[in-house]
Amino acid sequence: MYKGQKSVRGGIEDFLCPFTDMYITQGSNGKLSHRGIMANDIRGKVSGVRYPYYAPCTSKCLKIYPESGQSMWQSTNKVRFANGRIDYATYMIAHDNDMTRYNYVGKTINQGDYLGSMGDKGNATGVHCHIQVSQSSDTSWYKNKYGNYTFNNEYDLDSCYFTDYTNIIKGNGGDFITTGDVPIITLPGGEAVDQILHVGSKVKFDGIFRVDIIKRGTNLFGNTNLTGVSFMTYYNEKAKPYHWIPLDDFKEVDKYGSEISQDDIVYGGQSYVINKNIYEVKEIDVPTNSAKLILNGREVWIFSTFLYEVG
Ligand SMILES: [Zn+2]
Repeated sequence: MYKGQKSVRGGIEDFLCPFTDMYITQGSNGKLSHRGIMANDIRGKVSGVRYPYYAPCTSKCLKIYPESGQSMWQSTNKVRFANGRIDYATYMIAHDNDMTRYNYVGKTINQGDYLGSMGDKGNATGVHCHIQVSQSSDTSWYKNKYGNYTFNNEYDLDSCYFTDYTNIIKGNGGDFITTGDVPIITLPGGEAVDQILHVGSKVKFDGIFRVDIIKRGTNLFGNTNLTGVSFMTYYNEKAKPYHWIPLDDFKEVDKYGSEISQDDIVYGGQSYVINKNIYEVKEIDVPTNSAKLILNGREVWIFSTFLYEVG
């Protein structure tokens, strides 16, 4: 981020990357001093230069540790993290040589305000900022089994920061995103929702779906797009129970989505259906990008791509 940058959408601040240039010299679980913790050491463009960094969100200083140029901050409200979570941010920064000159317990700074400068105060190897972020209001700060201090609920930086206007020089393999990757949709009622599904999200089916196959003697159908299961797997009765979808809440349409002149008798391989109901996400599976919904009392797993969040 740059000095003074703000990002507020739907009344919630996006948690921004405090650094204008980011060169990670030691990542999370690093062997040097980060074993078992989600901490990162960041330097700027030129090694040894004490670059400034800025408040990722409007924050209050909770603690200072002058001997290591270290301070603990917490967001004054819930913020939006890069992984879609909306919660308080509690974060620790360290090694700022002059920190005690301008930071003190109880100080509140706005998003984009000067937060500190990289430094080498305390047990630091070279000028950098050590940063650790917890997606929680829990301020517990304790040593783990390797002797490194940690928060509960720490996440790596790519799950925390939106890197709008951060020049990532060395991202250490992180999958960094910007706010543009997480569109916020404002609903007619004025409520703003992102499109990152989580447990408890309210979702609708997005699209017109072909009934690829009907399970014999049931009202369950298979759809290769929604579940990723191949037609032959369905055909050979090898699909898992949660890949069969009950037809009850679906309405027959033509392939353009029109309900006109459809008889509601659905044929495998011919008919198209839509679903206008709202469901709650019960579980998320990140590796397969799927969400578990309950349709007519039956658990089904659906690719998130075909769902959109409405609350
Ligand atoms: Zn460190």
